[in-house]
Amino acid sequence: MTPVIQQNVSLRAFNTLALPSTAEYFCSVSEHSQLLQALEFARTSALVVTIIGGGSNIVLAGDIPGLVIQIDLRGVSHRYVTAAGNATGDLANAVDVTFAAGENWHQQVLFCLDQGWYGLENLSLIPGTMGAAPIQNIGAYGVELADRLISLQALDRQSGELVCFDRQSCEFGYRDSLFKHAGYDRYIIVDVTLRLSTKPEPNISYPALSAAVEAFCRREGLTSEAITPRLVSNLVSEIRRQKLPDPALLPNAGSFFKNPLLKQPQLNALLAQFEDMPNYPQPDGGAKIPAAWLIEQCGLKGAERGEVGVHDRQALVLINRGQASGAELLALAGEVRQSVEQRFAISLEIEPRIYGVN
Ligand code: FAD
Ligand code: NAP
Repeated sequence: MTPVIQQNVSLRAFNTLALPSTAEYFCSVSEHSQLLQALEFARTSALVVTIIGGGSNIVLAGDIPGLVIQIDLRGVSHRYVTAAGNATGDLANAVDVTFAAGENWHQQVLFCLDQGWYGLENLSLIPGTMGAAPIQNIGAYGVELADRLISLQALDRQSGELVCFDRQSCEFGYRDSLFKHAGYDRYIIVDVTLRLSTKPEPNISYPALSAAVEAFCRREGLTSEAITPRLVSNLVSEIRRQKLPDPALLPNAGSFFKNPLLKQPQLNALLAQFEDMPNYPQPDGGAKIPAAWLIEQCGLKGAERGEVGVHDRQALVLINRGQASGAELLALAGEVRQSVEQRFAISLEIEPRIYGVN
């Protein structure tokens, strides 16, 4: 089927910050052939192309020229993994699951739990699509996508070819990947293959999660045997619902800033000045600092600036209180960055990608 390409389409419903923005052209593609046709339309009309999924990690600062393509490719397939070199082909407690890029992340986490495929439970309730998950190597509660990714396929916009990336070639880092650097704007991810376990192996090492699990078991009179991936998923979802604003009720894009990774000299200098600064050691001797703490120390938690604000339960989340523009939101982000810079000499990096800046 030919994709329906519309002109002057409001993107308010396509970004979880609910920022007003108009796409010059817009189409949603649910088949690979539609994606190719949409790209061909853009090429022959000399239009720039912007790719979106669920719109939960973007800031629309203004109108978007050219063609916005929303990836809605669907389908899930799987293959049980056999133990290497085992002639009898015994199953290796693993299954490789391939998800088309437009599948919803959280729905697929729940689908996998239903199938008895484990490993994604800590990543429950993250908004967005499967195809966007590798872009920033999504992570939460001690697990990140890179722990499970086997490969992905992407359409190379330069060559028009489908390219396969294994985990190593994705160059994953902390909320980072090749697709934010050398692959920026070049690859359109069409599917993602994850290796999941058919053996439940709950990971409750993340302190906030282990505390929630312990409290639940105590309350219910359960032993550690009762800790299942399903329970982990439910508790992660419960913590998230308590702590994070639901974008449907209070528009936001999750964490607006990345947690800064400091090198040892800067870390030591800051710890000498701010003894109680929380920090999580990194392999290079430096540490990760919770950006929410830095913002809170600047007195900005719960700050309101007209139609925008810093969330009062999670300072890392900037919110649209109703009718905000992208410019207002970015002005608040600038104020937060400046305050943190002045007090701690740390430059906060904005996590979502910004579009529509002239
Ligand atoms: P979009 O916002 O649509 O796009 C994000 C970027 O990816 C854009 O640059 C876009 O061009 C690109 N992109 C999208 N799809 C493709 C594709 N198929 N091929 C190539 N490029 C593509 N993130 C975490 O890591 N951990 C969390 O715990 C977390 N919690 C969140 C909680 C809330 C309430 C919200 C609103 C966001 C949260 N996020 C979190 C951020 C966000 O959910 C993830 O980054 C998610 O992967 C974005 O998916 P999306 O489909 O909405 O991407
Ligand atoms: P939190 O538990 O209050 O912790 C604050 C920050 O400290 C987290 O970002 C986390 O880094 C870090 N941290 C805490 N314990 C740690 C440990 N034992 N080892 C290493 N780092 C540790 O965080 P939160 O805001 O409620 O979020 C909970 C989880 O969901 C976090 O993993 C967070 O990344 C994720 N989340 C992400 C987004 C997003 O949009 N990116 C939005 C909401 C929640 P990490 O980020 O590395 O975990």
